[in-house]
Amino acid sequence: MNKPTISFEYFPPKNEKLAQTLWDSVPKLAAFDPSFMTVTYGAGGSTRDNTIDVATQMHEKTGIPIATHLTYINTPRKELYALADHLWEKGIKHIIALRGDMPKDLNWPLDPDADYFQYTSHFVAALKARQDFEISVGCYPEKHPDAPSLDKDIEALMKKIDAGADRAITQFFFDNNLYYDFLEACAKMDIKAPICPGLLPIHDFSSMLRFASTCQTTVPDWLVEKFDAVKDNEQDAKKLATELLIRQSEDLIKNGVNHLHFYTLNKCAITDEVCSALGYQAKAA
Ligand SMILES: Cc1cc2nc3c(=O)[nH]c(=O)nc-3n(C[C@H](O)[C@H](O)[C@H](O)COP(=O)(O)OP(=O)(O)OC[C@H]3O[C@@H](n4cnc5c(N)ncnc54)[C@H](O)[C@@H]3O)c2cc1C
Repeated sequence: MNKPTISFEYFPPKNEKLAQTLWDSVPKLAAFDPSFMTVTYGAGGSTRDNTIDVATQMHEKTGIPIATHLTYINTPRKELYALADHLWEKGIKHIIALRGDMPKDLNWPLDPDADYFQYTSHFVAALKARQDFEISVGCYPEKHPDAPSLDKDIEALMKKIDAGADRAITQFFFDNNLYYDFLEACAKMDIKAPICPGLLPIHDFSSMLRFASTCQTTVPDWLVEKFDAVKDNEQDAKKLATELLIRQSEDLIKNGVNHLHFYTLNKCAITDEVCSALGYQAKAA
């Protein structure tokens, strides 16, 4: 059985302490030789400059290909083109192209506007036309919260792939059957690009619950019960999170996935144990 390729997502740290955690984690996870690592953009108030700075440093420190996330909402096309050119010049040739979350003063769907992109598929096509970027996009096994139905959301995904996206990375999920059903629905729509599962290590169950509620990700009752049983013991909670993620990944591998994407939350604990347990060898520094 072929081992899937792997990738790791990070976010730009907001302070010195978080920067320490990030830069401790990056070399440890890079040692697993991921096919790429990504740096988020805009999520949690980080700035574009933080993202480019972290991405560039990560590339210099590890030599691993880096992708930066890039969101188009509220940013004029001209600015995005300049940014894309800058990324290309800096050697960042892979973009995770996204809409970004809706600001309170805008309504979805966006009106057509000559100065702004309306849909992610338009953004993907424009990036591809600008430079020969590798492009990944997001996708949502339980549908995006703004989508009227899963079918409509899969149509939107199809448009992003037709516009030139090389792969889609899923929102995190805990029930693999949701992912397998999603793959089947995408196959029916003749989507051929890889749909890579995005996996979330649970470092803090309460914050995960808040995040899952925003994303409308299902948290199964059995997961709530298991974490409830270890809520007073940090070590047991970490052990449980690690075991569950190993089990989830093993099932995905058994079912033939070609790539696993880990939302590291900048921490190497859990993700490194999971990768080791799955048989990935960390190279010596
Ligand atoms: C892997 C991953 C990484 C992420 N990283 C970040 C990040 O770094 N920073 C950040 O701010 N956010 C990030 N997000 C969150 C993302 O920006 C939000 O979920 C955003 O609301 C949707 O962006 P999108 O491009 O994935 O969705 P889209 O594909 O744009 O879909 C959004 C809505 O529009 C609809 N839609 C799309 N295209 C069409 C069309 N042509 N016609 C009709 N309807 C359409 C969809 O059905 C859906 O309802 C990430 C999400 C994922 C899955």
